[in-house]
Amino acid sequence: MRGGPGFGRGFQEATMTRNNAPQAPTNSYATDGKCHNAEPGTYGHECGKPAAWIGTDYKGFSSGFCDDCKRHGYEARDVIAWRRADT
Ligand SMILES: [Zn+2]
Repeated sequence: MRGGPGFGRGFQEATMTRNNAPQAPTNSYATDGKCHNAEPGTYGHECGKPAAWIGTDYKGFSSGFCDDCKRHGYEARDVIAWRRADT
């Protein structure tokens, strides 16, 4: 999340630290249209397929997932809320 234009960054971090509820994704993992699921043992290699879903975990962190990774992905197990990415 670092390195982009500063606009909105402080606001995003402030809301994420005091609110555990799922919220509209605003970070690049949720908005770049790619699946960011990474399996254990892959050294953080992300799937990279087009994201069909946005998953939000209990910490309020949102990330893109493809259909396969939504069903079987390691990181998808932590997701507590799903919404379609094609909005
Ligand atoms: Zn995937």
